[in-house]
Amino acid sequence: MDRVTRVLCGRLLTMTDSEPDGAQIIEIAGGRVARVRPADGFAPDSDGALVDLSRWTVLPGLIDAHSHLGLDVMAGNEALQATAPDHVLALRSASRGAINLRRGITTMRLVGEKNFIDVPLRQMFEDGTLPGPRLVTATRGIRPSNGHGATAVVADGVEGVTRAVRENLRHGADHIKLFVTGGVATPGIDPVVPCFDREEIAAAVEVAHRAGKTVCAHAYGGQGVDDCLDAGVDHIEHGIYMAPRQFDRIAELGRWLVGTLGVFLTQPGPAEDPSWSPDVREKFLRAREATAGSVAEAKRAGVKLALGTDAIHGGIAEEAIFAASAGLSRREALAAITHNAAQACGLEGEAGIIVPGAAADLIAIDGDPRDDLRALRSVRHVMKGGKTVDAIGY
Ligand SMILES: [Zn+2]
Repeated sequence: MDRVTRVLCGRLLTMTDSEPDGAQIIEIAGGRVARVRPADGFAPDSDGALVDLSRWTVLPGLIDAHSHLGLDVMAGNEALQATAPDHVLALRSASRGAINLRRGITTMRLVGEKNFIDVPLRQMFEDGTLPGPRLVTATRGIRPSNGHGATAVVADGVEGVTRAVRENLRHGADHIKLFVTGGVATPGIDPVVPCFDREEIAAAVEVAHRAGKTVCAHAYGGQGVDDCLDAGVDHIEHGIYMAPRQFDRIAELGRWLVGTLGVFLTQPGPAEDPSWSPDVREKFLRAREATAGSVAEAKRAGVKLALGTDAIHGGIAEEAIFAASAGLSRREALAAITHNAAQACGLEGEAGIIVPGAAADLIAIDGDPRDDLRALRSVRHVMKGGKTVDAIGY
C-alpha cells in the first residue's frame, strides 16, 4: 500500500463542473489524487503525511500550452539565441524547466526544440533527476526553406516533410509541429504568407495521425489557416490574424486554438527591445493591436482555447490575466491555463483538474483567482506528482 499524503486546502478550485465549498482534504497516493473530501472533523494526527495549505487556495498545477525551453522571448533576438551550441541550449533549457515548475507550471507543451535536446529533459523531469514540468513535446518544429522558426528543421516537399515527421516520431515526439505561415520574429516574412503548401501539410497530418499523434501549426491567418483546416491539422497556434469565418470553422470542426498573448501584449516587450531588427519590432507592434480582438473572436465563435507564453518562462498567469482583459470570464481564462490546456495537450483527466485518478499536480496561491486573477502571481506551494517542489526564491 502506498503511503497516503493528505493536503489540507483552505479553499479548493478543482476545475470540475462543481466546486466544493470550504476547506477540503486532498488524499494523494502513488502520485495521484485518491480522494477529495470536506475537511470537517479532520484529525491532523491521523496516519500519513500532512501538507498544510490551509492559508491558501489550492488549484491544479498550471499548464503553459505553447512554449520553447530553448528560447526566451524576453531575452532578445531569438535567431541569435538559437545559434548557441547544443550543450548551452540544453543547460538553458534545464534551468528554465526549474523556473517554470517553481512558478507553478507543472505541465508544458513544447512546440519546437532544437536537435532533440528536449527528449532527455522530458525523461529527467519525469524521473526527478532534474526539477521541471511534465513535458508534452513536438521535438523539432518543421519548417519549409522559406519559412519561420528559429530552431526548426527544414523540410521541403511531400517526401521531405514525411521524412521529418517520421524522424520526430522515431525520437519520441508526443505531437507534431509545422511552421505553416510566416512569423513575427523572423525578418522579412509576413506572418500571414503561407509557406508550406497544402500537400505538404496533408502529408504531415497523414503520417502523424496514423501514429496516433496530433499536428499543430504555427499559422497566423490567411490561406495557410484554411489549408491547415482542410488538411486536418488539430491545433492552430497564434491565429491572431484569422478572419471571423476561420474562427467559426475551427469551432465547427472542434479543433483547437492555442493563443499566445503575452508575447505581444507585454510592455515593454520585443517591440521595445532594440536587439530585434526594426521590421521585426514593427511586426510585434502590429500583432499587439490584433491580439485582444482575436481572443474576443474566439469567444464569440465558441472556439476551444488554450493559452501559452511562447517562451516567457514562468509567465502563464499573465496569459490568463490578458485573456480576461480581452473579454474571457475569469473562469474561462483559468480553464485556458488548466483544464482546457490539459485537453489541448492530450492530458484530459490527467492534468489541469483535481479529481480522483488525476496526477497530483497542484499549487497553492494567496487569494482567490475567481475574484482576482492576479492571485495567480503569488504561488506559495507547488506539488508535482504528489511531491512538494521548493517554490520559494523564484
Ligand atoms: Zn512558438
